[in-house]
Formats: sequence, structure tokens, C-alpha cells
Amino acid sequence: MSLSEIQSRIAKAEAAAGRPAGSVSLIAVSKVQPNERVEAVLAQGHRVFGENRVQEAEGKWPGFRAQYPDAQVHLIGPLQTNKARQALALFDAIHSVDRPKLANTLARLAQELGQCPPIFVQVNTGEEPQKAGILPADADAFIATCRNMDLPVAGVMCLPPVEEEPALHFALLAKIAARNGLEGLSMGMSGDFESAIALGATHVRVGSAIFGDRVKPEGA
Ligand SMILES: *Cc1c(COP(=O)(O)O)cnc(C)c1O
Repeated sequence: MSLSEIQSRIAKAEAAAGRPAGSVSLIAVSKVQPNERVEAVLAQGHRVFGENRVQEAEGKWPGFRAQYPDAQVHLIGPLQTNKARQALALFDAIHSVDRPKLANTLARLAQELGQCPPIFVQVNTGEEPQKAGILPADADAFIATCRNMDLPVAGVMCLPPVEEEPALHFALLAKIAARNGLEGLSMGMSGDFESAIALGATHVRVGSAIFGDRVKPEGA
């Protein structure tokens, strides 16, 4: 598939849901992709990208940004507290704020630096033990905690269990956002972004459908 096909499928899904054109932001997930593929998507005019590892992003984005200063990079993967400072310097949004310790660290650094990009609270909608994210039952309290620390909470994010119907998880996330007065809904990937848009997604994170299959790093 290509960038333009994904853009037109997003436009169709927006229209089908009665939502304004352009209300969904496409995050092109460039993790583990060869630089030529990322470069090609930049050259087509796309400017919003997603990475899931701080180190990988740090290796490739300063170079791309020198050429495309308006490129935005969103962190969509787990963030260790000892990388929080780097993350604040590098990313235009953080979609994976998933625990009090990380929120505390980000808040402290945000005070010190006088700035913080928009953050999304990651919710473990499937309550999977191995997966990051705040449990749905704890989400309201955690969002309030983040707001009390003056973190700029833009919305919530989820990554549904692979073997379950994603729409159930998207609906649950939308409910959590609505009752907390949050507009941002980061949900939907290559296989299910249209369903996510139907349920209110404002940010879809699409990787392989744009770039092709991820080239596995050695040893993976
Ligand atoms: C890799 C990844 C995506 C994109 O997945 P695709 O199936 O390639 O579209 C979206 N969100 C997160 C958190 C990811 O890690």
C-alpha cells in the first residue's frame, strides 16, 4: 500500500463517520524501517511520524529534521524514566505515559525545562499482564494526577490485545476519554484504523500499511 492510499482510506472513514475532513491525524510509524522508505514518505510531504524507541529515534531523526524542519516525531513506545529527559528534547508528543513514576519524572523535568509536549495516557484496555498501561479502573485517577502535576494531557492511547475485536477496546477508550473531558484518542493501526476512526480516533498509528513489512533487526 502507499501513503496516498492510506490517506484516502482515512478520508473515506472520516466521511463515513460524519466527521470533518482532516480531523484524524495520521502518524506514520517509521520504527525499524530503512531510511530510504522514511525519506520517500517525507518527500511526498508527510510530516508526522511515530517511533517506539528513544535510542532509534535519536539516531535517525536529527538528520531528517535538518532536511525537514517541520517534521514531527511522536513517541508511541514504552519510556524508561532514565530516558525521559532525552524524550522531552526529541519528541513532539508522548503517547505512552503509563505509570505514576514516569508522570512524576516528566512533570519534574517539564518544570525544569519550562516546556513539555502533549502527552497521552496509555490505557491497558485488555488488562494484559505483560502489556504497559494504566488499568481502565485506575485511568480516571491517574489522569487527574497527571493534570494536577500540570502535565499537558491531550488524550488517551491504547493497543488492543491482538486476538480480540479491537472495536470493543476502542469504544472503552473513547468512554474513558469522554468522561475525563479529553479530546485526543490515539488508537488504530494498519489492520484496524478505519474501525478506530468510526469510534472517534483523533490519531491513528499506521506503520506496515504505509512502509511495508518491518525489516526485523538482527537477532529478533
Ligand atoms: C508498531 C506500532 C504501531 C504500528 O503498527 P502497524 O501494524 O505496523 O501499523 C502502532 N502503535 C504502536 C504502539 C506500535 O508499536
